[in-house]
Amino acid sequence: MKTKLFILSFLLVVTAYGQEIPDLPPTIEHYTVKESTIDSLTVRKHLYTLSDDAMEGRKIGTPGIEKAAKYIASEFERIGLEKFKDLSSFRQSFKEGELDLFNVIGVLEGRSKNDEFVVISAHYDHLGVKNEMVGDKIFNGADDDASGVAAVLALAEYFKAKGDNERTIVFVAFTGEEAGMLGSTYFGTQIDADKYITGINIEMIGKESRFGPKTAWLTGFDRSDFGKIIQKNLVGTAYKLYPDPYIEFDLFYRSDNASMAKLGIPAHTFSTGPIDRDKHYHKVSDEAETLNVTTITETVKAIAKGTESIINGIDTPQRIKE
Ligand SMILES: [Zn+2]
Repeated sequence: MKTKLFILSFLLVVTAYGQEIPDLPPTIEHYTVKESTIDSLTVRKHLYTLSDDAMEGRKIGTPGIEKAAKYIASEFERIGLEKFKDLSSFRQSFKEGELDLFNVIGVLEGRSKNDEFVVISAHYDHLGVKNEMVGDKIFNGADDDASGVAAVLALAEYFKAKGDNERTIVFVAFTGEEAGMLGSTYFGTQIDADKYITGINIEMIGKESRFGPKTAWLTGFDRSDFGKIIQKNLVGTAYKLYPDPYIEFDLFYRSDNASMAKLGIPAHTFSTGPIDRDKHYHKVSDEAETLNVTTITETVKAIAKGTESIINGIDTPQRIKE
């Protein structure tokens, strides 16, 4: 709340000095406050916190990922989300061999269609620390995928403040994506897939896409009409969504949306990553400073606007075909 007030008063001061506007129309304040629930300062905070060296690359089974999970859960708590099903905390714990793993899940109950679920997800694990390396040893995973988790947190805050979602939104930070989509695979075993309307997964949205500013692309665009629904909802905005231009990389099967799509759920991944020429991909140099917070913020806003009709129960994407 402090941040919002600060931005608002800052804008007012700037406006006052910039040009003489005697009075703001009464709708402006309302509009500013609502819009500012997705603001770049909050996005930046999530991004820099999750990709900080203190998180030690967020590898499964390490103290670093424990810190990241605590941060995400504390944000879900602050935002005011509820626990998933009968869980007593925001963690959904499971074993993989000897390792204790946990997805972090927060729920925003739908108003009229609370038995229809929309997942908004990103993976919070990454590659950890490689001690045999000289110099920087920490794989910070800022773009991959602290940027996506920052988006999930910002969207949770946005939809909670908006308070008009007809369907239930399940916000998930998946673990073990880098180790073979362990978290999303486990999540899939704990749900009744028929009740899951769509999966909105977010991966690497911190760099401008090859289509230019204010654009993103979607994996598996032709596998359902989800992408077309988003495009329809973005008409009239400056933001554009394109089909995944890197078909040869098989990206539809390389992120957590695949675990949901396997169950028939129309689940796709939003990305802006220039993956064919990204020199920081899976490198220690994937640091927050290499990203554009404005790109992330604009993409989060586009995802909020683009998915609105699905979250409000107006549109229902086709199921994924085998
Ligand atoms: Zn990733």
